[in-house]
Amino acid sequence: MDIRGLTLEELEQLVAAAGEKRFRAEQLARWIYGRAAESFDQMLELPREFREKLKYQFKIGSAATASAARSSDGTRKLLVALADGEKIETVIIPGRDRLTLCISSQAGCAMGCAFCATARMGLRRNLDTGEILSQLFLARRELDAGEEITNYVFMGMGEPLANYPRLLKALKIMTSRWGMGISARRITVSTVGLAPGMERLLAEIPVRLAVSLHATTDELRDRIAPLNRRYPLKTLLETCKRVPLKHRDRITFEYVMLRGVNDSADDARRLVRLLGPLRAKVNLIFFNPFAGAGFEPASRAAVEDFQAILQRGNLTATIRESRGADIAAACGQLYAEQGASHADSL
Ligand code: SAH
Repeated sequence: MDIRGLTLEELEQLVAAAGEKRFRAEQLARWIYGRAAESFDQMLELPREFREKLKYQFKIGSAATASAARSSDGTRKLLVALADGEKIETVIIPGRDRLTLCISSQAGCAMGCAFCATARMGLRRNLDTGEILSQLFLARRELDAGEEITNYVFMGMGEPLANYPRLLKALKIMTSRWGMGISARRITVSTVGLAPGMERLLAEIPVRLAVSLHATTDELRDRIAPLNRRYPLKTLLETCKRVPLKHRDRITFEYVMLRGVNDSADDARRLVRLLGPLRAKVNLIFFNPFAGAGFEPASRAAVEDFQAILQRGNLTATIRESRGADIAAACGQLYAEQGASHADSL
């Protein structure tokens, strides 16, 4: 069993069961999270007998990197092989003043968005907390000298809020002082709109929230993001109004621009009306094509016109430039071929 995935509380239980003093739990947490220890032998201040017990019961870290591919723009995609052979992808994305890690929450995804490659895999399974966290430790090994991850986004494979309890535990470990000490302000959870989970999550932990909207009518959203049939626009946006946000925070609405589908001036005007009453900003995303997608990216002119309409409507709107497309590491291109080597899938 992987020890990296246990909360301080769980480590305390383990320490108590082993008849050790309570403060050993925090020491253990520091080693496995803060100092990224790879073996119990390193933990010299722990009693030798306790270390032997731990060695017998636990491993540190659950997954291994099968391979990493590097894009011409510096984006790196890691194909992570899990213990049972399932594969997930994790992406390191350099920006001007940041280095973002894009984390997967599930192997595959059950949400069925029409324009997303991961959806075509279906849901293989949830990741456990250790597997979610292992992506951070594996990614750190791929960094160049002087590089440090500054931002974390749950925008890899899967729907994070469909794996809620394990996600929450991972977020607690990431943001706690006894854990990895990452500021919640630097973590974004992106969801296709599992409304109840959005409220619950932000009440627990002040991460940033991104909502994948992509459509301004239920008719279209039902079709391209079918979770909309369960949580239609009205429900979703009312929930967005209610979620507890820190003082000046806003929800980011992601909007993949699909040619002739959702990229018209009417769509932009409807978006202004829908989001006007909310603390919102919009991130327009170029659609990243993949084989058999059945959609085309909107033209740059259409994206810029769309952005201009949003801005005239007093909505902050940015355009997300596509990164890592040459290694199929861009948004919506993550697709792990089970059983195939990474080289085969490139
Ligand atoms: N399930 C979550 C997080 C994973 S997807 C969610 O839906 O938000 C991360 C982002 O990539 C989402 O906004 C998603 O809609 C977008 N995306 C999916 N397929 C894409 C594609 N082919 N091109 C561009 N963006 C895509």
